[in-house]
Amino acid sequence: MNLNLYIKGKWHTPTNGQNREIVNPANGEVIFHTVDGNKDDVQAAIQAARSSFDQRDWPEMTSAQRSRLLMEVADRIEKQLDTLAELEMLDNGKPLHEAKIDVQDAADCFRYYASIIRKSNGKTFNPAPNLETVVVREPIGVCGLIVPWNFPLLMGVWKIAAALAAGNTIVLKPSEVTPITAVKLFEIFADTGFPAGVVNLVMGEGKIVGNELAISHDVDMVSFTGGTETGRQIMKAASGNLKKVSLELGGKSPNIIFADTDIELAVDYALYGIYYGAGQICSAASRILVEESIYDAFVDRFVARASKITVGPGNNPDTEMGPLVSEEHMQKVLDYIRIGQEEGARLACGGNRLRNTGLSAGYFVEPTAFIDVEQNMRIVQEEVFGPVVTIQKFTDETEAIELANGTRYGLAGAVFTNDGNRAWRVIKKIKAGITWINTYHENYYEAPWGGYKESGIGRSLSETGLDEFSELKQININLQPDMINWFRE
Ligand code: NAD
Repeated sequence: MNLNLYIKGKWHTPTNGQNREIVNPANGEVIFHTVDGNKDDVQAAIQAARSSFDQRDWPEMTSAQRSRLLMEVADRIEKQLDTLAELEMLDNGKPLHEAKIDVQDAADCFRYYASIIRKSNGKTFNPAPNLETVVVREPIGVCGLIVPWNFPLLMGVWKIAAALAAGNTIVLKPSEVTPITAVKLFEIFADTGFPAGVVNLVMGEGKIVGNELAISHDVDMVSFTGGTETGRQIMKAASGNLKKVSLELGGKSPNIIFADTDIELAVDYALYGIYYGAGQICSAASRILVEESIYDAFVDRFVARASKITVGPGNNPDTEMGPLVSEEHMQKVLDYIRIGQEEGARLACGGNRLRNTGLSAGYFVEPTAFIDVEQNMRIVQEEVFGPVVTIQKFTDETEAIELANGTRYGLAGAVFTNDGNRAWRVIKKIKAGITWINTYHENYYEAPWGGYKESGIGRSLSETGLDEFSELKQININLQPDMINWFRE
């Protein structure tokens, strides 16, 4: 497998590139070596995307041709589903069945955007007699796409598919922790026959490769998914040429459970909400809020089931929860567990790195839940991004909403109740871009994805996600040109 950069239609070995060891988080073993690009490599990729865009071979390709190429990418992804899923599992640690869902979703995302560009995208109206106004969408230009490690392939594809469908050229920077499936995707691009320079890949560190994409005046838009602090730095770096910025950031999402809900159902979804992906999901339900009268019963049932979750390597079919992505990240999560205890919260379950036979070299942390938590504690306010949840008590609807909205984040949120009116009332008051009633983690390409407050700017997916990668232009046409003599002759 070629693990180089991909620039202007060719695989490219960086001249002064640093080798990087890619580690399997299930056992700490090095599985691949990749090369990090440096500033010159990013510049070469940006210039390739720039000249490709300016020559107009991609943006002016008919939507039918563009759509066909994107459909072909989807077919090729699907043909390699098993290989891609296996690589994703090795690199990120997620269970194989989850990796397969991600790869299928990646293929479907290309199909979704390939199909929606086949419909008309303009508006026309007559603002005055003999004046016709047409509003058209045009691609923005060169898009720098910076993605995280939790869904290495899928987070990249959400951006790539929409950016390319809208007619832009791209430079992708995958996470330095999990670049493998991005390289594989670029092998698919290389075989699909995109014009040279339309798609470019530069691996490497965020503060070098990512920062260069954010500051470059030859990049017209930067689309970023990752942590809120990184998003803030990117926004500052992007201000030099006021490029368009789209940010999908962190979360600390509330899952509100009212007493009229079936407890078994609420527990079932609450477990899925936090422990799916070992909690390394931006929209994870990391704060459970439970109505006072069922609090103890809920905690008992939650703990009983959380303690039974099978934690293990992704290639074991019995595994329900995999390891954390890296030793560094595991340390961060364990630090938060220590901080929670120091703050006075009590562990209801978990709290430790798993040292069972066969798991001791991997980065496994037990499904963990804190009770006796206060709203101002760091474990309630800050994103842990691991299998760690806080379970708080509320007395009434007003308090539930206040606690739910009481962080700087606003990505997702859910409410569980059998009272339909209350469900609507509460969900309307939750300051978050992605919400659920009596369910969790449902996500479709047709609906926009993104956050309020410090969880981000802009939306991915849906037609809105396509529009994010375009500029609007009004064209005013005088149907009967005549002298206006605004100034006297
Ligand atoms: P991160 O912010 O550390 O890194 C994300 C990407 O940004 C990586 O490719 C990294 O190399 C790059 N980067 C780092 N510093 C940079 C800089 N100064 N300039 C430019 N690029 C830089 O995030 P992570 O640890 O990879 O991912 C976890 C975070 O991602 C969590 O906060 C999670 O909530 C968030 N996330 C959000 C969404 C969403 O849709 N809102 C989805 C997935 C993950």
